Amino acid sequence: MMDKASRLKVALQKSGRLTDNSLDLLVRCGLKYSRGKDQLLCYGENMPLDLLLVRDDDIPDLVQQDVCDLGIVGLNVIEEKRLAFQARGIAPLFEQLQVLDFGKCRLSIAVPDGAKYDGPASLRGKRIATTYPNILARYLRENDVTAEIVTLSGAVEIAPRLGRADFICDLVSTGSTLLANHLREAEMIMESRAAIISTPVAVSAEKQAWIQRLRMRIDGVQQVKESKYIMLHAPRAKLADIRKLLPGSEAPTIVPLDGAGDKVAVHAVCRENVFWETLESLKGVGASSILVLPVEKMLA
Ligand code: ATP
Ligand code: MG
Repeated sequence: MMDKASRLKVALQKSGRLTDNSLDLLVRCGLKYSRGKDQLLCYGENMPLDLLLVRDDDIPDLVQQDVCDLGIVGLNVIEEKRLAFQARGIAPLFEQLQVLDFGKCRLSIAVPDGAKYDGPASLRGKRIATTYPNILARYLRENDVTAEIVTLSGAVEIAPRLGRADFICDLVSTGSTLLANHLREAEMIMESRAAIISTPVAVSAEKQAWIQRLRMRIDGVQQVKESKYIMLHAPRAKLADIRKLLPGSEAPTIVPLDGAGDKVAVHAVCRENVFWETLESLKGVGASSILVLPVEKMLA
């Protein structure tokens, strides 16, 4: 079917920590979709793009096998798969296109409360439970440590209590899971966030054009999240002070105010969040009528 070959297929996590943010990102990029009856496939109504909802661990494989053109998944999973493929002598065939601003976490070694830990040497000869055996093996190799890797598919944090491991190597974001399991973070191995991977197989020019378009829109979406549009009035003499206070802004637009003497209006896009403290400082150097507006879309 011609139509099928020209539609992009994107793999997303079906239900988990990345699901809402991944769908939200695509919606902000303008996608309208309807969910199929099987809840596995979403059909893009206004773009030639369909979504396949799967377990996150399957996403790199789907892209590797060219079942999907793109996938959104954590760098931790991407790296683990890349190393797993390499270990089996298979060239990893997915490319990392773009790192995203959600799914932030780190892969860390955690040790039971009270256990001694003074650096990687403390891991020597120990049993370490993880779902990321390849990343952990590389870390141990790089640090010249021989230890036993206990590969588990889940519930890694209870392994020490069950006597299955001395330490664990698992994902941490707030640390509350570790705390609840009487573990403490001892060493960070890798920082992670969600990323887009793409197929290595050459796609049609039509698909390629949509991938490019999507990337530009994603850049725009990520930029506007924190961005604000500031408008204020100020004496011309205070412009230098004011520019110093505007967080992450490019050259502001200065507009003369009719019949207001030396006062001008300053309009600027700030690429960082604008806090009350900033507004107070701006007022402190002479700004008035300060307005902060959200930026909805941006195309560089
Ligand atoms: P699935 O059923 O799809 O296999 P899962 O249980 O493997 O789901 P989730 O717990 O939903 O996966 O996590 C998905 C991804 O979210 C992780 O691989 C990681 O990149 C990211 N993430 C962010 N914060 C955390 C965290 N605190 N713990 C685990 N993963 C996190
Ligand atoms: Mg998973």
